[in-house]
Amino acid sequence: MLDVRDLRVAYGGIQAVQGVSLRLYPGELVCLIGANGAGKSTTLKAITGLLKPQAGEVHFDGQRVDTGAAWQRVTQGLVMVPEGRGIFARMTIEENLRMGAYLRDDAEAIEADIEAVYARFPRLKERHRQLAGTLSGGEQQMLAMGRALLARPRLLLLDEPSMGLSPIMVDKIFEVVADIAAQGVTVLLVEQNAHRALQMAQRGYVMDTGRITLEGPAQQLLDDPKVREAYLGL
Ligand code: ATP
Repeated sequence: MLDVRDLRVAYGGIQAVQGVSLRLYPGELVCLIGANGAGKSTTLKAITGLLKPQAGEVHFDGQRVDTGAAWQRVTQGLVMVPEGRGIFARMTIEENLRMGAYLRDDAEAIEADIEAVYARFPRLKERHRQLAGTLSGGEQQMLAMGRALLARPRLLLLDEPSMGLSPIMVDKIFEVVADIAAQGVTVLLVEQNAHRALQMAQRGYVMDTGRITLEGPAQQLLDDPKVREAYLGL
């Protein structure tokens, strides 16, 4: 479903991503872990088209997509929940959700999808007229995920969804990620909480200073002494 080939991304003279290749097969939940500054967010942004790579290719569903615009990837089903959530603070919850469907024109299905998001997150329904900026961090993360679901993703890229949340909210967010994956959405999960991410993923990639240094089945990474020491604190 996703085939990233030798991706390179720089910020001016800083080479943040130095030749990353990764693949996702339909229905997989794959995690990408690594220290702060390893280049995980930059990789996701280049996959979605928010950053232009210096070199490399991104193929989605067998089709090269990095030569087109970011919005075209969204219409194809490649959708990201960005780090920091990126919600529109001065719009209501419902307006934020509708923004997720901005590129769709199937009005009836959009209404049904909004109701489905409300059913998944009753908290958002209770507060649908409230400005999104007044929500707690965990609620904002739910809103960002709900908004992404309104784009009908087939591949969802999640950048640090549990960051800065209370333990109860972290549990809830991981539950939601598992549930979305169980419904057949392919997921690439970037997580600082490497242990939890590897426990729920089928496969994982480890990134260090702009490169993939290890990859394999999640259980193999969980058992790997280097991973345990460097990323799991064991
Ligand atoms: P984190 O978990 O801290 O977000 P990350 O693995 O996602 O880390 P990136 O955010 O992709 O890492 O950063 C990779 C490198 O690129 C770092 O050295 C970072 O300082 C640098 N970088 C990121 N964004 C920019 C930017 N807008 N301008 C310049 N350098 C940047």
